[in-house]
Amino acid sequence: MSTALPTHSQIVIIGGGIVGCSTAYHLTKAGFKDVLVLERKELGSGTTFAAAGLLAQLRQNREMSNLAKYALELYSGLGAETGVEPGFVKTGAIGVCQTEDRRREWLRGAAMAKAFGIEMYEITLKEAEDMVPLLNTSDLKAAFYLPGDGQVDPISATHSLVRGAKIGGAAIVENCTVTGIKTKNSVITGVSTDLGDVSCEYLVNCAGMWGRQIGKMTSTSVPLYAAEHLHAITVPIEGLKKHFPTVRDFDGYTYFKEESGGILLGGFEPVANPYGMKGIPEHWKFTELAEDWDQLAIFMECGFERFPILENAQIRHLQVSAESFTPDNAFMVGEVPGVKNLFVGCGMNSVGIASSAGVGRALAQWIAKGSPDEQLWPVDVRRYFPWQQNTRYVHDRVAESVGILYEHHFPNRQRTTARPVICSPLHDRLKDNGACFSMIAGWERADWFAPEGVKPVHKYSWGRPNWFEYQAEEHKAIRHGVGMYDLTSMGKLLVQGRDAEAVLQSLSTNDIAGPIGTSVYTPMVNDKGGFELDVTVTRNGEESYFIVTAAGTTVRDFDYIKRRIPADSICTVTDVTHGYAMLAVMGPKSRDLLSGLTDADLSNEAFPYGTAQEIDIAYARPLALRMSYVGELGWELYIPSNFAVPVFDAIMTEGKKHGLKLVGMQAVNSLRLEKGYRHWESDITPDNTPYEAGLGFGVKLDKGEFVGRKALACQKEVGITKKIVMFTLDGNQEVMLYGNEPIYRNGEFIDTLSSGAYGFEVGCPIGMGYLVNSDGARNHWIKEGSYELMVEGKLYPATLHLRSPYDPKNERTKM
Ligand SMILES: Cc1cc2nc3c(=O)[nH]c(=O)nc-3n(C[C@H](O)[C@H](O)[C@H](O)COP(=O)(O)OP(=O)(O)OC[C@H]3O[C@@H](n4cnc5c(N)ncnc54)[C@H](O)[C@@H]3O)c2cc1C
Repeated sequence: MSTALPTHSQIVIIGGGIVGCSTAYHLTKAGFKDVLVLERKELGSGTTFAAAGLLAQLRQNREMSNLAKYALELYSGLGAETGVEPGFVKTGAIGVCQTEDRRREWLRGAAMAKAFGIEMYEITLKEAEDMVPLLNTSDLKAAFYLPGDGQVDPISATHSLVRGAKIGGAAIVENCTVTGIKTKNSVITGVSTDLGDVSCEYLVNCAGMWGRQIGKMTSTSVPLYAAEHLHAITVPIEGLKKHFPTVRDFDGYTYFKEESGGILLGGFEPVANPYGMKGIPEHWKFTELAEDWDQLAIFMECGFERFPILENAQIRHLQVSAESFTPDNAFMVGEVPGVKNLFVGCGMNSVGIASSAGVGRALAQWIAKGSPDEQLWPVDVRRYFPWQQNTRYVHDRVAESVGILYEHHFPNRQRTTARPVICSPLHDRLKDNGACFSMIAGWERADWFAPEGVKPVHKYSWGRPNWFEYQAEEHKAIRHGVGMYDLTSMGKLLVQGRDAEAVLQSLSTNDIAGPIGTSVYTPMVNDKGGFELDVTVTRNGEESYFIVTAAGTTVRDFDYIKRRIPADSICTVTDVTHGYAMLAVMGPKSRDLLSGLTDADLSNEAFPYGTAQEIDIAYARPLALRMSYVGELGWELYIPSNFAVPVFDAIMTEGKKHGLKLVGMQAVNSLRLEKGYRHWESDITPDNTPYEAGLGFGVKLDKGEFVGRKALACQKEVGITKKIVMFTLDGNQEVMLYGNEPIYRNGEFIDTLSSGAYGFEVGCPIGMGYLVNSDGARNHWIKEGSYELMVEGKLYPATLHLRSPYDPKNERTKM
């Protein structure tokens, strides 16, 4: 397989596992001929050789499912193309449910599958037994069938990809270890290896569980950690059907497939064993670790229940190997922040075979065109923060990450390991007031507040969760009185310098060039007009802008702006997130409350909506922004962190006169959704434009040139083919919407909700989603339709709203 090491290759890929080889294959398909794969030992000798080879299509979101779906397409035809058969078999798969809650989860999963173009439906237990003759279903509540799932032989698939890559011009060098990465001015220039140096223009880190070490070579965050991962194979069993559909029993943590006439059973144990505390040993090559019969016992217990014949079946081979897992159970792809032309494709969380085709293709698109054809935020490496390189953090989290794959995937389910990481300066104050915390981007945030006598713990459910009524009170406090929430986690960026205005004007669709104190909502879009950033830009100095963005997108947004500052501009961007706490005081009584604490004139005339001023509060001078993400009169106070506690105390004391209530993130979400405010990631992504998202007011086509202007001008003229709308389920108060529920128009499936919540003011569930029509998503076509939403397999009539169901004229924030 190997060739001699060249001194230059346009693209170098580190790692000859299935992901690296797929990337090489797809790069050659994208027209790159000068592609080199460097593998420290032999192809597939890292983790790939150990895999069961299952190709499951349905994953936790649309993006990952699309990547997985493509594996079925690629591997079913790859043998004919390359002459090396990948061992593809379309087996189908059956998911079984031991509990009613699990059935509800799978019903929601089936609806998602439909939306993602994956065939999946409920079958009777008798049908499941007919498909898998030795399966015991006597204790089960339900079963679901995915006829399109399949499997490959991982090593054969790797070699098939390599053959295809070689036909396309790629070179492979085995027994060659990359020892260093070379950059100049933060741009990739080459690698050092134990066989010599290779210069290159692009470098792709596909080093599997070694990926974090490779990341350290450029101080970039590749937060993954290996964990032991195992399966056992029995001797042949009489009566077993060859290639029976893979059986997944999430409640028993276990999956089953046929292997050489026996049963292969493996799974995802609730507490896993992290591996490689002293690094992955140098000699690792097709390595199997010591047999761990205790971990296997978890799967065997389920095995005896599901396939009673296992009681008498001998285990032929217990294979324990290691696989890389990540803090959020999703892999990472894309260009690494801070280093130009350095890409990553690793941290596969035990779905690396199923995702290999999609990840390789996406990386090839990214390198060829600057972005993947479909947005991939849930797996984008820019969602990770520099601090996530912390070894103890990834080690501790990974023990939990493995089991999460088969856990109940309740809405708002929180991780319990590796916490706390980041606490706002007000954390203890919130805790003392009964906060139940959730976590995002490492930040502990008050999710909701438990009243006295109630324990602040999450009790998850597909129905109303235990915090429902407390959330309702917080929601109502902001609608009718005054509430305060701590959003210190918001990302805060300072863009400064003589050319700051010009740089931001060139990236923003809105006009951000106002006098000091102007605060503007603006999208920043890509060449196709799709949302890259969704931010508030406040001019806080002649040559200074204060940008507020979401906690989870801070790295991405920082990197996006930094990369686009022209080399000859005098402009810098600085992440000042940790320098400021943020308290939002919102509600019709917020003016009265804050007026008791400041001499500043808070009237509409002196302090209108969309402006900012530094004002006195307690002994501090926070930057007060008259903005709202909850649709009421209010101010966001950006307080230098060390002043935050006294400011909080002062507001709480004054607040007693006004019935101030502390509010958590659950209520903030229901408030923003009721008001129709979009959320980047779910409602708006690089695949939606401001016009499609109903945010055209943030686009000023006549302000001069900016990125994406041409595409947006064209769309404005031609018209849109999808449009965001809102729905309420009037009269169905018990139904819970969380996003991803299918929307039906005149009885036909059209798309899924991008987000959903309960609207406590409107008194029913509310959802937001896109209506798609290739002939044009015009209002009369939208209004002509009759709509239903599917929840857990049942259709509910839905009321359409072209504007938000609450305060559609947008008057409340300007009171
Ligand atoms: C027991 C078990 C069962 C599994 N079952 C499934 C399954 O059914 N379905 C599924 O989708 N996934 C499954 N997986 C997961 C799957 O095997 C992995 O996700 C996948 O193989 C990862 O591929 P990779 O290319 O990212 O990593 P690897 O295969 O580990 O490849 C990375 C390569 O990089 C090389 N490398 C590292 N450092 C350097 C360096 N400095 N220089 C040069 N080369 C370097 C390594 O030698 C290695 O070969 C399973 C895993 C295990 C352990």
